[in-house]
Amino acid sequence: MTTAPAMAPDPLEVLAEVFGYGSFRGPQAEIVGHVVGGGSALVLMPTGGGKSLCYQIPALCRPGTGVVISPLIALMDDQVAALRQAGVRAAALHSAQGPEQAQAAWKALRSGELDLVYLSPERLLAGDCLDRLAELPIALFAIDEAHCVSQWGHDFRPEYLQLAVLAERFPTIPRLALTATADGRTREDIRQRLRLQDDRVFLASFDRPNITYLVREKEGPGAQLQAFLAPRKGEAGIVYARSRQRVDRLAQELAAAGFDALAYHAGLDPQRRSAVLERFRRDSGVIVVATIAFGMGIDKPDVRFVIHADPPAAIEAYWQEVGRAGRDGRPAEGITLYGASDLAWALERLRRRELPEAIAQTQAHKIRQMYAMFEGTVCRAAAVRRYFGEIDADPCGQCDLCLHPPQSIDATQMAQKLLSAVHRLGGRLGRGRLIDHLRGVTKAVNEHEAAMSTFGVGRDVSAAAWRDLLDQLMFEGLLVEHANDGRPLVGLGEPVEVRAVYRGDRRVDTRRAPPGQEATGGSARRRRGGDADPVDGANQGLFDALRGWRRAEAARQHVPPYVIFHDQTLADIAASRPTSRDALSAIGGVGRGKLDRYGDSVLEIVRASG
Ligand code: ADP
Ligand code: ZN
Repeated sequence: MTTAPAMAPDPLEVLAEVFGYGSFRGPQAEIVGHVVGGGSALVLMPTGGGKSLCYQIPALCRPGTGVVISPLIALMDDQVAALRQAGVRAAALHSAQGPEQAQAAWKALRSGELDLVYLSPERLLAGDCLDRLAELPIALFAIDEAHCVSQWGHDFRPEYLQLAVLAERFPTIPRLALTATADGRTREDIRQRLRLQDDRVFLASFDRPNITYLVREKEGPGAQLQAFLAPRKGEAGIVYARSRQRVDRLAQELAAAGFDALAYHAGLDPQRRSAVLERFRRDSGVIVVATIAFGMGIDKPDVRFVIHADPPAAIEAYWQEVGRAGRDGRPAEGITLYGASDLAWALERLRRRELPEAIAQTQAHKIRQMYAMFEGTVCRAAAVRRYFGEIDADPCGQCDLCLHPPQSIDATQMAQKLLSAVHRLGGRLGRGRLIDHLRGVTKAVNEHEAAMSTFGVGRDVSAAAWRDLLDQLMFEGLLVEHANDGRPLVGLGEPVEVRAVYRGDRRVDTRRAPPGQEATGGSARRRRGGDADPVDGANQGLFDALRGWRRAEAARQHVPPYVIFHDQTLADIAASRPTSRDALSAIGGVGRGKLDRYGDSVLEIVRASG
């Protein structure tokens, strides 16, 4: 009798058997097919889009071990824990583990007992790691957070540059670079630096239909924050602020107001940081107030809101940070507060970094593009997706601008007056004096200035309206502020653009927020993508019982609850009340490993709630 050669497992079967999902999402199927067939690629997909399966499934289908390079140690451990729950043989190698753990991982790796191994770039490049890997069958290399290789991105990590060596050392092994954040230029940079120029690029839509976006000008950030949070008590969320001091203060204010809020930033000692992370992952309803030090490793699926109490660094960072909300596909919110002084602060900080000129200019442009989006009059989600190259993005129908389209007024003439005043004055005045000039305010004015044709051309317009227009022209790059001993002077921006406004070829619209537009959004939480509440009243008791069981199980195994089952899976179990293993395994998120491990307990709980 002849035996047929062992067939490579079918990706769809692996998806169902191991992960318990019935179908691939978006471009996942195509990417998986490409990599299983030995191809390399760059994958761009939004946070929460499902990047992990794009390399986990090929690693299980191809012979050998899949090597995943990730800069995020906390995330590695979670991913390994989640994979083990699903019955996948996985381990991590990173600097935060002891020598015994590393030895055990190497031993398993050498004896072919691992489907996946997670490595930090430092580990991969240190010592003889590459030589040791070269002796083993490798299924693929996955390079997570691939934008870290590019200086054009917002999160450059020099050690990533050395990952180019993989192409040279392992020319026949597929390499999959993945990122949630890359504009055209960063994308090309990644391809070049990781030697993927001739390989495919998979671009998923950056749409996150379950997230609702709201952007507000700062009034009193502390009070605004509490107004946002009041209707959201009991939900897990992240509040980003720009400095450690701000984080500490906001966290204290929130705690004093009765919120379960904890501060997180790089100035806290490591034990404190991991305790905060632990609480956020394990308990529901914790709010973490943090600098951007918190987040790259957060794959908690049920984060319900991300609030920027200070604006993010650029649109890429905005989308990535907001994308940490609602990974479970249920309704979630992204709320951002910004002000003109934040723009000035961001540009000043950029100047202090003393980057090479071309890079500094690109970064400044990125910052302005983000503010232009904040100040914009059309759908926020569509604006961001266009920024990422999705030319045909439709309005989302649920962001603040879609729900309350601002009235825009043609301010081209006002802008012409303002720009010519700045031009005539030769950029010698700061904001306040410039507005006085336009309004013909005579204090502190010399004869020369009073005789200028632009002096008093804007008498009929309020100082506040001029200030708004000034901000907007800054956001659009038509005006710039130059540092001048802490009292910035206003000068002209991009000459081509300024000329277009003078000639009337470029229209300037300002927006007037409709009165009474309320910022809490708490009542109208209907959304396009996500389902409503996970459970309706009748199933609440069973849902709670399942959550209680999961909490105990997670504590016993020292893993976060969501690696056992997601809320959505428990909600589906509560709704369909399966009475057999077959019925249970038909539910999304229940693969073979989890069925074997937890099937009996879950069925018992369902039966008992009868
Ligand atoms: P990313 O790394 O892109 O941010 P993840 O890989 O963490 O996203 O996936 C986000 C969530 O979506 C995870 O909870 C994952 O289980 C789920 N998911 C991914 N692909 C599928 C799929 N094909 N069907 C159902 N759920 C999926
Ligand atoms: Zn919209």
